[in-house]
Amino acid sequence: VQISRGNSDSYARGEAETFTGTVWVRRALSAPAPSEMGVVVVDFEPGARTFWHSHRGGQFMFVVSGRGRTGTRDGSMEEISAGDAVWIGPGEEHWHGAAPDSPMTHFAVNAGGPPAWAEEVSDVDYARSDP
Ligand code: MN
Repeated sequence: VQISRGNSDSYARGEAETFTGTVWVRRALSAPAPSEMGVVVVDFEPGARTFWHSHRGGQFMFVVSGRGRTGTRDGSMEEISAGDAVWIGPGEEHWHGAAPDSPMTHFAVNAGGPPAWAEEVSDVDYARSDP
C-alpha cells in the first residue's frame, strides 16, 4: 500500500510550455512501469487550460470542483463541472481547463507515461462553446 498524503504533497506551477494561464499540479502517485500510470490533481484558475496533448494509454478525469471545458480536434467542446467523470481515449488529442468565469479542479489518472504535448489552444478553440 502506498499513500500520497494530501496534507504534505506539494503543488508545482504548471509550466508555460504546456499550460495557458495559472495552473497548479499535484503529482499524487505514480505507479511503476509497465503501467506507467500517473495520478494528478490539477487546479486551473479561470481561463487557464492545457495545451493540446494526448495520453498514450488514455486518461480518466473526475471534476472535483468548479466548472470547465474540454475539447477535441474534431471541434467538439463539452462543458464539464463538479461531479463529472470524463474518459479520453488512448492517443486522442484534446485539452481541458477551467471556464472563463470559474476555476476548476480535476483529479486525473493518466496511462502510458507522460503526455505527448502539441501547440497551445487558441482563444478561438477555447471559445468554441461560447453561445
Ligand atoms: Mn489530458
